[in-house]
Order: sequence, then C-alpha cells, then structure tokens
Amino acid sequence: KVKSGLAQMLKGGVIMDVVTPEQARIAEKAGACAVMALESIPADMRKSGKVCRMSDPKMIREIMAAVSIPVMAKVRIGHFVEAQVLEALEVDYIDESEVLTPADWSNHIKKNDFKVPFVCGAKDLGEALRRINEGAAMIRTKGEAGTGDVSEAVKHIRKIRAQIQEFGSLLNSPDELRTKAEELRVPTDLLKSTLEQGKLPVVNFAAGGVATPSDAALLMQLGCEGIFVGSGIFKSSDPENLAQAIVQATTYYNDPLKLLQVSSDLGDLMAGVSIESINADKKGTRLSEIGW
Ligand code: PLP
Repeated sequence: KVKSGLAQMLKGGVIMDVVTPEQARIAEKAGACAVMALESIPADMRKSGKVCRMSDPKMIREIMAAVSIPVMAKVRIGHFVEAQVLEALEVDYIDESEVLTPADWSNHIKKNDFKVPFVCGAKDLGEALRRINEGAAMIRTKGEAGTGDVSEAVKHIRKIRAQIQEFGSLLNSPDELRTKAEELRVPTDLLKSTLEQGKLPVVNFAAGGVATPSDAALLMQLGCEGIFVGSGIFKSSDPENLAQAIVQATTYYNDPLKLLQVSSDLGDLMAGVSIESINADKKGTRLSEIGW
C-alpha cells in the first residue's frame, strides 16, 4: 500500500532516461517527475548487442546527488541481488526491465520482499497482474524501447484496456472467472478486483518508443497515467526544448491548441527505427507479435 502510494505520486508526470548528472538537471528543470539513471539509453543498448546489466552504483549516486526529484534505476529481470544492491543504495524506485538482458527466463523478482517500490513492463492484462501479484507498485507498457516507434506501446495499452472490458462479463460467473484467472496465472481475487474497478490496481504508465509530444498525448488519451521517455529526448537536437514540450503535452494531453503550440519548432527529433525494419533484420521472427 505504501509502495503503490509512492508510485501514485508520479501520476500525470514524465520520467526521463538520463545518463549523466547534467542530463538529470535538464530533465528536472524541464519538469520531469523522476529520472531513470542508466549508463546507456535503450537506443544504444539495442545497437551494442552486449549483455546489459544494472548500472554502476557510482554513476547512479552522482545522479541522485544532482537532482531533488526521485531517481529510478534498472535491474535485470529476475536479478534479485542487483535489486538488493539498488535498495541498499536507496534509489527511489527500481525498474525490473526487459531493456536489460534477463538474468532469469522463468522467474521475476519477488518484489513483495523489498521495501523499495518496483515498476515492471507488461504487454497484456495477464502479464500486468502477474507482476502486480509479485509486488510491482507500478506497471508500464513494454512498447519497443529504443526505437522511437510508438506503435507497440499503443498496442499494449489498448490490449490491457480491451481485456479489462472484455473480461468484465466474467464477474457474473464465478466459475468462468476462476478459469480465466488460472489461464492468466493470477489469483482470482486480484482479477476480480481489477475487473470491478475497471482498471489496474496500480498506476499504469506508457513506455517504449515515445519520441514526440503527440506520442505522449496519444498514450495519455488511450488511458495511460504518465509517460516514460527513454531515448527520445537526448537523441534529439534540442533536448531541453523537447523535454519541456513532452511534459506539457502529458499535462495538456486533451488540448489540441496546446499540443500544436508545443509540437512546433522542436528541431530534429530522434530518427528512430521502425518495428517493421527490426522484423526485416530478424527475417520476420517478430511478425507473429506484430499482426493486426
Ligand atoms: N518478459 C520477459 C523479458 C521475460 O523474460 C519473461 C519470462 O520469463 C516474461 C516477460 C514473462 O513472464 P510472465 O509469463 O511471468 O509474465
């Protein structure tokens, strides 16, 4: 409860990836509600082909010293010792992130064992509820990090929302509800309370491929409660201006005149890489996930 309250405090805000104290200060000045401290942004990790791990605590500590807003840092999926290290460092939130190389392909961290709140990625309702059941205080769409292509994040929030709607009818049938909970591998009570509320029981942010103010507003209009921006800001030609514009767009997501104003004169945006071209590189291996 305390942990999900901490995550609630970020609602409506923008969380920005930063790799230096200087970038962290730019993010804070632009109105970010938190920063994600990491050594390398997802767009560069994606290119590197290396094993990506938790960042050096020394650089995370330097970023913590540079700003007064909350600082998040990432650990590998299932790597509960990296999480112990970051908890000892007293970061404000931990992201158990698929952007890093997973340390365990079948078990996520038992997040209920920790005091620090965690955020986890999800592509659908089952995945979101499994993470919440493990103790996640916040969910974000997985999207396709480091691409600047917003389409996967859109797909994931639409899917989560649609499944909450669709499964709502099961509330009238305890047997079917139990069967669905088994299928999703989550406790029936958690599924039931989610369907009754018509939303996830923790804050639900968007992440993965957000690169413009309009991208941020699109995901907010689709029901997200805040935005992570990874590679988009510091891969653009005018990070200060773009960072401010994305914060404004996240606040005024329903105001087209405001969005027009903040979308203008932003310089060169992140060039990005489309989901389709990634599929082509891998000879179509991800096509099954893409489909319509
Ligand atoms: N995401 C990543 C990156 C994974 O490695 C795994 C598998 O362990 C999952 C998600 C799926 O976990 P679950 O099926 O428990 O949601």
